[in-house]
Amino acid sequence: MTTPIKAARGVRDILPAERAAFAVVEHAAREQARRYGYQDVELPVIEPVELIERGVGGDTDVARKELYRLEPHGDNDADAAARLVLRPEATASMVRAYFQGGLNQGPQPVRLFTIGPFFRHDKPQHLRYRQFVQFDVEVIGDDAPAYDAEVIELTWGWLASVGIEHVSLELNSIGDESCRPQYLAALRDYYRPLKDRLHPDCQRRVEANPLRLFDCKEPQCQPFKEAAPRITDHLCAPCAAAFEEVKSLLDAAGLEYRLNPYLVRGLDYYTRTVFEYQHESLGGAQNSLGGGGRYDGLAGALGYPETPGVGFAGGVDRVAFMLQHDLGAVAPPVVADVLVLPMDDGLDRAAGQVGRLARAVRSTAVDYSRRSLRAKMRAADKTGARWAAIMNAEEAERRVVQLRDLTSGDQREVAWDELAEALA
Ligand code: AMP
Repeated sequence: MTTPIKAARGVRDILPAERAAFAVVEHAAREQARRYGYQDVELPVIEPVELIERGVGGDTDVARKELYRLEPHGDNDADAAARLVLRPEATASMVRAYFQGGLNQGPQPVRLFTIGPFFRHDKPQHLRYRQFVQFDVEVIGDDAPAYDAEVIELTWGWLASVGIEHVSLELNSIGDESCRPQYLAALRDYYRPLKDRLHPDCQRRVEANPLRLFDCKEPQCQPFKEAAPRITDHLCAPCAAAFEEVKSLLDAAGLEYRLNPYLVRGLDYYTRTVFEYQHESLGGAQNSLGGGGRYDGLAGALGYPETPGVGFAGGVDRVAFMLQHDLGAVAPPVVADVLVLPMDDGLDRAAGQVGRLARAVRSTAVDYSRRSLRAKMRAADKTGARWAAIMNAEEAERRVVQLRDLTSGDQREVAWDELAEALA
């Protein structure tokens, strides 16, 4: 016998018990986005590698280690030369779609959202998967800090509407191209003498990309963060003013936040505002429920006209996990409200007809199996169905069923023609 084939490492099936929680989380996301005037888009799962490398930054973990690269395909030259990847995040694609689809020509800014799968070849762990679902929102085409605050308010409201409490909103500004270079120089000056005591990855980062030093989770690097220069002490006047404005708008919206000078986010093209929702119950390195920020340099880096934007990506898997495990708020999925249970052989047609009638008002499944009524009833009880419509050959002949309320055990005879009314 061949070995049974299992799913690839780090990916999983979302089976009905978990899918119910996903559905609640995704529904809440769509409702919340639409309430704020964001429009739904769907983007390809495969993208040119350049989009992602330039979009997230070549020196990020996402680009360096975690990209799923596809084999070139096909005999025509364009296909053979195309280097494609499975998308690890949405923002670069959103900005590409905004220009490619001509949304930059219409009224600005453009508010968009999408929900879908993303792929990162990361070490599989609890709540860190190689395929996961994100809720992504973006406002492209205006740099007013009020849009930063709006994205935060919208996404905060999403978590709240799902019932997640005690979320910590971490907030920082990482400046822009006019103040960040000086800050990075100060950061390098601070870290250079400490280089030998850092983790090898961080030794490289000191010169290559010092902001990433704050992302590091290695214990040996932690003690040096405390005394490191803080970006918020180095912001230029426009960045400082924008940050004050975001904070004041969040205050006005009644949102509490924690200023976190070490929050830099994993991607290179963020400017000014960065934020993240953390929840202690998730624990450790996987405590982030979502995050985002402003990325005024991204469009230019992708070869489009400089265009500001701000956005958010939330982890649907993690929010659904919290909903299911911490809040216990999602009812176990019901297969169908009504089960039709034919008791004799040869009743498939009659049972099918009863199913059709009941389905006009309730979800209905028919048990076409050849097991005994006892076995069918046992199975029916386990599905969580509310009613059983039971029928033997003689009853089918008379076009009636015994309609049994599976909660109370009450049972009465109902004519097929009156079934919909009885179930309504
Ligand atoms: P990021 O784009 O890395 O900021 O991710 C945004 C959110 O997506 C995170 O806060 C997580 O909730 C979720 N997320 C990111 N990577 C993964 C993953 N590998 N597995 C599950 N969720 C993830």
